[in-house]
This record gives sequence, C-alpha cells and structure tokens, in this order.
Amino acid sequence: MALEKIAYDAEHCQRCSTCKWSHLWEIKSHRFSRNCPSLVYGQYDAYAAQGKNDIATGLLKGELNWEEHKDTLLEVIYRCPVCAACDTNCKRIMDLDIIGVLDALREEACEKGYAPLPAHKEFITSINQYDNVWKQPRTRRANWAKKMGVKDLSKSGETAEVLYYVGCTYAYKPGFDTVPKATAKILQKAGIDFGILGAKEVCCGGISDNIGDIKSFKEIAEKNLGMFKSTGAKKIITNCPGCFMTFSEKYARIQSIDTTALPYTVQHSTQFIEELINNGKLKFKKNVNKQITWHDPCHLGRRGEGYKHWEGKRTDYGLFEPPRDMNRGANGVYDAPRNILKAIPGLKLVEMERIKEYSWCCGSGGGAKSAYPDFALATAKERVEEAEASGAGTILTSCPWCEANLTDGIDGSGSKMKVEDILDVVIEALDI
Ligand code: SF4
Ligand code: SF4
Repeated sequence: MALEKIAYDAEHCQRCSTCKWSHLWEIKSHRFSRNCPSLVYGQYDAYAAQGKNDIATGLLKGELNWEEHKDTLLEVIYRCPVCAACDTNCKRIMDLDIIGVLDALREEACEKGYAPLPAHKEFITSINQYDNVWKQPRTRRANWAKKMGVKDLSKSGETAEVLYYVGCTYAYKPGFDTVPKATAKILQKAGIDFGILGAKEVCCGGISDNIGDIKSFKEIAEKNLGMFKSTGAKKIITNCPGCFMTFSEKYARIQSIDTTALPYTVQHSTQFIEELINNGKLKFKKNVNKQITWHDPCHLGRRGEGYKHWEGKRTDYGLFEPPRDMNRGANGVYDAPRNILKAIPGLKLVEMERIKEYSWCCGSGGGAKSAYPDFALATAKERVEEAEASGAGTILTSCPWCEANLTDGIDGSGSKMKVEDILDVVIEALDI
C-alpha cells in the first residue's frame, strides 16, 4: 500500500497551517502572501497539505474509505499541481515529506483502479500509442530540425558530446518549435558538439509519475535509459523543466540511487547557456529594451533539486536514522535564468513578490490543467496579476506548460501583458 511508506509524515502533521503561506519574512503584501493554489481555489482545509495529511491518515487508519468518498477524494487529490510550495514551507518547521504524501495518495488511487482520471488516461494512451502526449505521429517529432544540420544520434555511428532532448510539447505543440530552433542555433553559435534523438525520441514519462501511474512511468523510464546509454552521451540538456526533473530526480528515484550516481548529468538549457556566457562562447550584441519579470517554473525551482536516496527510520522527536539530507526547495535552478537576463544589455528584470522557493505556481502542473482547467486558469490569473503589479510588461519563463497556462491567464483576465520564453530574448540579444 503506497500510503504506508509515508505514515509517519501524514500522522505527524501539527495542523499549524505553515504550509499555506510564504515564509513570514518573505511576505511583502497580504495580497500575495499565500502559497497553496489548491487551497486558495478550494477554500477548505482538505485542499491544503494539512488536509491531505488528514486524508492519508484517515485512509491508513480505516476511518475514511475510498468506496464511500471516491469522487471527493479524487477531486481533492488531483486538483493540485503538486507544486511543492507546501513541502518547502512545512520543512521550515516539521521536516515532513509532504510531496511524498501527495505522491502516495495518487499512487494509491491508481493502485485501487480509481485513477488515472479520464483526462490523464488520454496522456497515457497517447504515450503508449505514439510515444508522445499529443497523439502525434513519431515521424513528425523532429520536423522543427529540418535544414538545421542537427545530428541524429539515433542513427548508428552518430555520436556527440551533448544530447539535446527536445520533449513532446516543444516538438509538437503549434507555435512552440521556436524554442528548439533557438536552442539549436545557440548551441551551433557556441560551437557545441550536440545531437538529438530525432523521430526516435520518446516522452520522458514525467506525467505518468505525476499522476501516480508508476507502472507506466517505469516502462517509459527503462526505454529512455536504454536510449541514453546507446548514444553514449554523458550530458543531456533540456528546455522543459518537466523533462529536466524527470531525467535527474525521477529516474534516480526509481532506481534507488542518487542523481549524482546516474551515468549522465542533466542540465536545464538556462544552466548550459549561463556557462557558455561565462566562458565567453556566447556574447550578446544587441540591446533588448524591455522591462520583464521572471516566473520560476516549479519543476525547475522547488522541484528541480537532485534525488538523494535514503533508507532508514524516524526515531524520537522525528530524528532520521541514519541522518537524511532532505530537499528543501532552496537549491533549484533560480540563478541561471536570472544571470542570463542580467547579462542582456538593455533588459531590466523586475521581480514579483513571490519568487524562487516561494513562487506562486502557474497552476498547470501535475495534470491539473487537463483535469481541472478552471482551477488552472484561476491560478494563472493570480500570477498574471502579481506580474502586472511588478511593473513589467512581459513575463519570461522557460516551461511550455507555464507559458501556455500564463497565456490563458492573460487572455482570461484581459491583461495587456505578454508571456515569452527566455530564449526569445537570448536570440534577440545574440542577433542570430
Ligand atoms: S506545515 Fe506541515 S505540519 Fe503544519 S499543517 Fe502544514 S503539513 Fe501540517
Ligand atoms: S502541491 Fe501546491 S497546490 Fe498542492 S497542496 Fe501543496 S502547495 Fe497546495
């Protein structure tokens, strides 16, 4: 039973509400002080981590049963982007593995056969049939790369130092191919030896893990791990934070090894580009005269830390035996995109009130947008309102899911703001 492994964490919730708010001394206004989109939308404690701990405990003790409350339980468990703000906030005081609880509730729903939800089954079926989440033919996967002279590492004999993994959404979603095209141009400009997997690239499987379908996730992970091995590439770079986190944190977790023990290293494209700027391989030529703000994608920030395997038990006062080094959300990829933006001449970065590990989620992750679009939209609108309050005219980010949902938030709130990928301004400043 998935819940048994998180019994300590769920049962030791103090019901203190710390998981619902940004760190006290990080709060700049009452309006933007909250941190849990699920609670803000749902209004009842059940939607916050506090309530989800009670639900997990109730299920474990037999005080709640699935059969009687199935619909309510599924709605509470899945109307949440698994953004991990609660996990970061709780660890300030209690060191509880809240993401472990949220994941276990989803895993249990799948084990019982009540999930995946219909909207999520579509993704799983699409991955099984097409190797991507968008029901698109495999042959179209690398169409963006035509005439760009990019190596296809799935062809025998082709090798490269860097494997650039594109991801389903950038490969297929209309309007999003500007990002892989920009990435290829930047890597070529810097003289990097890189290649892609072409039509053989397969979905990372992050969505399967997010919704708790572990069986499907393991199958996809095995396929990808085999493919990575066959290319011999020691470094993988991705633009999509979901793929980034999946390859570094999730693929290590399912093998019960540390991320540092994986046979490859994974970098988000912003980390790689920051290094290229620092070692002089990229030089900005053109001014980009804009006032922008940066939206931290959850999978790049709070959830962007590597996995550190731990086995043991909790003893008196919650101490770990042996000691455990826990992820706390503070060591995600926050500086690389900001350093790139600061290096672009003319560009002015103004920060929102909730940033880095206290960022407000866009509302799209964890399957929330496909199953609960109204919730995802309301959450995005709050981020757009916060971005407007910063004085910026454009929101920059580096995640296709955040970009799409924030665009909906702009449209839905009648805002005049724009949302763009960070590579749009990098390309403009490089003048390539
Ligand atoms: S901060 Fe942690 S201990 Fe406090 S209510 Fe939230 S989940 Fe429970
Ligand atoms: S993951 Fe995010 S939305 Fe879900 S309970 Fe935690 S803070 Fe709330």
